[in-house]
Amino acid sequence: MKNIEWEKLAFGYTKTNYNVRCYYKDGVWGELEVSSSDTIPIHMAATCLHYGQEAFEGLKAFRGKDNKIRVFRWDENHKRMMNSAKGIMMAEVPENIFWEACKKVIQLNRDFVPPFGTGAAFYLRPLLIGTGAQVGVKAANEYLFMIFGTPVGPYFKEGFKPVNIQIVRDADRAAPLGTGVYKVGGNYAASLLSGHKVHEAGFAAALYLDAKEKKYIDECGPANFFGIKNNTYVTPKSSSILPSITNKSLMTLAEDMGLKVERRQIPVEELAEFTECGACGTAAVISPIGKIVDIQGDGKEYVFSKNGEAGEVSKKLYARLQGIQYGEMEDKFNWVSFVD
Ligand SMILES: *Cc1c(COP(=O)(O)O)cnc(C)c1O
Repeated sequence: MKNIEWEKLAFGYTKTNYNVRCYYKDGVWGELEVSSSDTIPIHMAATCLHYGQEAFEGLKAFRGKDNKIRVFRWDENHKRMMNSAKGIMMAEVPENIFWEACKKVIQLNRDFVPPFGTGAAFYLRPLLIGTGAQVGVKAANEYLFMIFGTPVGPYFKEGFKPVNIQIVRDADRAAPLGTGVYKVGGNYAASLLSGHKVHEAGFAAALYLDAKEKKYIDECGPANFFGIKNNTYVTPKSSSILPSITNKSLMTLAEDMGLKVERRQIPVEELAEFTECGACGTAAVISPIGKIVDIQGDGKEYVFSKNGEAGEVSKKLYARLQGIQYGEMEDKFNWVSFVD
């Protein structure tokens, strides 16, 4: 095991030993290659640099008390990445290459997979980029698929504590018929400035609304949104949000716990009716929301936690999901794959 202060890890990059790469050229994928460099030599006219032809993923591997390493729902990440690839005309990566790359990057960096009980995990970052040179606006004919890994701590430094969030009304991260459903860098570039302003104002994240009417909740920057009321888990249905695998898993768990699940438009005013709210994604798992403010709108404040504690339902959902990920609870839905 590496000499790392696991408990103090932030959600950031720590250099590991190896990453894996695979190149697409002349219509075929090559062999998986191992690299110890953390740079990529690239043509200056590569489409990823000029026209944003790139997609990424994020998934985690967890070391259990039994010392076994579990990867959470990688097949869903593969499917989503292929959907992104189709959406912005990139070569599709076969499932077996995706899984071999996940396994290899974990096996080669085994010592960087955090010990059980530290709250840390090993984050995998698959990346698919157009590397072929084009000056005209066209899809590339060459691609690089790679995965690197890095040990990470919690996404929000507060950990599983309620965070405060601001509704953004002077910017959109994705258009209703745009690329919000794909995990592509362009959506993130589009959200950097508004995200920065919200942080400067002292909030942990931005809450985006539907771009067309500014009436319904979309999502929280890099995390989906859910609210709880009347024993129901409610999460937005929108054509401009990224289908979160964490959210999908929480919906399954909520139903399994006897809650009703609704995926539908959520008007901003409905926030007043929720007893709990949260942001969910691989990075944060669940970030309970303490308060949502609408400074740019009617100035309303929606308060969900007064005592600095997460709500009961959020706590239970969090415990079940983490319990499955760390191998402490039954993997009832077959979400976990082992890496030896
Ligand atoms: C990745 C991402 C999420 C979270 O998805 P998970 O699969 O749960 O990690 C949510 N919103 C956006 C915009 C994302 O890019």
